[in-house]
Amino acid sequence: MEIYNPANDRYLITIEEDTKDSVSEKFNRAKAALSTWNQTPLKKRMEIITQFKLLVDQEKEPLAEILTNETGKPITQSKNELKGLMGRIDFFLSETAKVLEEEIVSEKEALLCEKISKEPLGVIANISAWNYPYFVGSNVFIPALLTGNTVLYKPSEYATCTGIAINKLLHEAGVPEDVFLLILGAGQIGEELLKLTVDGVFFTGSYATGKKINEMVASHLTKVQLELGGKDPVYVCEDVNIKTAAASLADGAFYNNGQSCCSVERIYVHESIYDKFVETFTDEVKNFVIGDPMREKTYIGPLTRARQIEVLEAQIKDAISKGAKLLIGGKRIAQAGNYFEPTVITEVTHEMWVMQEESFGPIIGIQKVKDDSEAIALMNDTEYGLTAGVYTQDENRAKNILSQIHAGSVYWNCCDRVSPTLPWAGRGHSGMGCTLSHYGIETFLRLKAWHLKKP
Ligand code: NAD
Repeated sequence: MEIYNPANDRYLITIEEDTKDSVSEKFNRAKAALSTWNQTPLKKRMEIITQFKLLVDQEKEPLAEILTNETGKPITQSKNELKGLMGRIDFFLSETAKVLEEEIVSEKEALLCEKISKEPLGVIANISAWNYPYFVGSNVFIPALLTGNTVLYKPSEYATCTGIAINKLLHEAGVPEDVFLLILGAGQIGEELLKLTVDGVFFTGSYATGKKINEMVASHLTKVQLELGGKDPVYVCEDVNIKTAAASLADGAFYNNGQSCCSVERIYVHESIYDKFVETFTDEVKNFVIGDPMREKTYIGPLTRARQIEVLEAQIKDAISKGAKLLIGGKRIAQAGNYFEPTVITEVTHEMWVMQEESFGPIIGIQKVKDDSEAIALMNDTEYGLTAGVYTQDENRAKNILSQIHAGSVYWNCCDRVSPTLPWAGRGHSGMGCTLSHYGIETFLRLKAWHLKKP
């Protein structure tokens, strides 16, 4: 597998991919390592993960460079991701012992005790995306390892070098070689992994792949968890500070070049402030610094995958053919690398793909609405259900609107935000199951019910 830098199309490295046989051999090793790792005291497992955190912190500069080189993520955003990883690890370290505690449910009858204990699922297949490899990867492999599972980790083919770095640091920190195993390759290798009788499949990626994976593992009766795409809406009410809301939403839509599962992908604005909001928002976007992702001041780098440019071009063409107005952007930037102009489209409707299909790039549609009911109807008019937000001064109004929205995470006056303490759980085409929060630790465990009667 040859890896290229999406910022300049330069060749970076050739990586040897796994094969059907090597995947199967790694699975057998992960299975054999399970009981020893599970019996390793939690304290020891926590020490190892703490050491991993320390090593990542020491290596954060070169790790950020590796990430930027292979994905085109601006270097400041790569550093932010690594900083965020520290907080996630801290959360898992602080919560796991509590989650693993046995529960005595009943001791009503003197001689009968009922209790619940928790055991690891077993061998976890972790198939991951490239857009935030440290976040989406660690949401799975850190709690999985802490709770005593072994992990077969397949990073995305677009974040392979980062996957290799994660693997190296986990082993250096003390995770045994057979407890965390790297599987390298693209979708076909992922499929080989799914043919094996793993005990849990934890996938982050697109709806199309997630659906396929769910169908593939159904016959094994294996637990599957899917964290998929989004078409995340935000409604801007008429009572906001327009400048503050526009700045926040421009960042929410264009951070990481719009390649976040929870990027703002649709904006609905109350008609009374629509023109002023659109003007202010567009000014924000015009000020973005586009260029070499290795430069500290760059905010917009290249897209990670060249093929996404075709998706953006098709969405823009479709929207314009149906009456949308292209305010700024709309085309590839003519230079080496996968650069695309930040794009703002207005006069959009829900007949247009740009308001229905995940764009996953630097493009946003803004639509005028007359009131809260119209905004709610439009926000819910999608198959996805990852996040949604409302910007208003009125807390009750925000809560009332958000309680009617079909999404796993809702935001008042903020957006594009993930917290380790809250569950990350998409609905509909955005996925099933959850990571993060204590629920995102429990998900790597199975329950055992004990009925104990003294002789
Ligand atoms: P993708 O679906 O193309 O690939 C994801 C992973 O699946 C990769 O490792 C890939 O090699 C593997 N894969 C592809 N086909 C496979 C198959 N048939 N069998 C097994 N594995 C296979 O997605 P992507 O381009 O890497 O990521 C972008 C998508 O991920 C976007 O839709 C984004 O919204 C979503 N995402 C969601 C979250 C979330 O938390 N909900 C987080 C990050 C990204």
